[in-house]
Amino acid sequence: MRPAHALIDLDALRHNYRLARQLAGSARALAVIKANAYGHGAIQAAQALSGEADGFAVACIEEALELRSAGIQQPILLLEGWFEADELPLLAEHRLWSVVHQHEQLQQLLKARLPTPLQVWLKLDSGMHRAGFAPPEYPQIWRQLQASDQVAGLTCISHFARADEPDCGATERQLACVSQTLDGLSATSLSLSNSAGVLAWPQAHKHWVRPGIMLYGASPFAFEQPAAARLRAVMNLDSRIIATRELPAGEPIGYGARFVTPRPTRVGVVAMGYADGYPRHAPDGTPVLVEGQRSHLIGRVSMDMLTVDLTDLPQAGIGSAVRLWGEGLSADEVAAHAGTIAYQLFCNLNRVARRYR
Ligand code: PLP
Repeated sequence: MRPAHALIDLDALRHNYRLARQLAGSARALAVIKANAYGHGAIQAAQALSGEADGFAVACIEEALELRSAGIQQPILLLEGWFEADELPLLAEHRLWSVVHQHEQLQQLLKARLPTPLQVWLKLDSGMHRAGFAPPEYPQIWRQLQASDQVAGLTCISHFARADEPDCGATERQLACVSQTLDGLSATSLSLSNSAGVLAWPQAHKHWVRPGIMLYGASPFAFEQPAAARLRAVMNLDSRIIATRELPAGEPIGYGARFVTPRPTRVGVVAMGYADGYPRHAPDGTPVLVEGQRSHLIGRVSMDMLTVDLTDLPQAGIGSAVRLWGEGLSADEVAAHAGTIAYQLFCNLNRVARRYR
């Protein structure tokens, strides 16, 4: 069997959820497990957290129904809501909570005749300008939904655009916008915080937090952050050396001859490529661990293989374990080299078998 696989540590996932819950104080926490739990396996993640999670958040009804079919009973919030009016009865039938973020959804809900009313999370655009109702129209829509017999409960939800940048002033402006907009609305349920909010903005914890990336042990910050340092890696992306070769100085390696050996070089070929989700644009020097020792990429990543420098690791050979990211080498560090974020590395995972411990 091809040796590439992702070993998912469910204990680390639980540790990270507990940390989110602890940091958030009295707030409850919806574990964000959309996009197949950021590539970690949504059903396995939900089952691992089912004893303690207050609920889950996914993008859409397809993701939620998969969890219900697997027996997950907790509340599930649809972050994008529904797309067609005929999905609404399914939401009621499967006890799904939903974000409402635009007028078409609002009209569909107000016209609906549901067997049981919905828990609605009414989205306020407090500054991200992606989804949600604008502050001037929000109070009137809130009151309309409060009066509707299709609505069982209302939560105000908003989303931070720059909570990972503590000094830029944007989060303070969003918080001020939320409190001004809600003034006089007697809103008793409010949800603002993603992982960066949980880790760095205690004033934004309120009633529900929505941690995503931190559950998977990666940090939303581009700098060392004390609370994020307490997270544990969940995904270990591992493979093995499948071939080695010795090259003299001055020889190119791989497509495009991007890397030319500056000295006599021992090259290790690893069964891992961009078809597995490893970033093709990772440059020479991107770190890997070979039998726990640091080495780095040399040459362009191909579809199924990549090449690493074994010159200073004489014991390494065919069969040696290679970690692409995980414990000992954070996905954040690899992502920084590749000019991306750990979110994308995790979500792009493909083809490799997921194993759980
Ligand atoms: N809430 C909403 C509305 C989101 O879209 C996301 C993720 O994109 C999250 C929470 C979780 O964010 P993070 O993974 O940064 O914690």
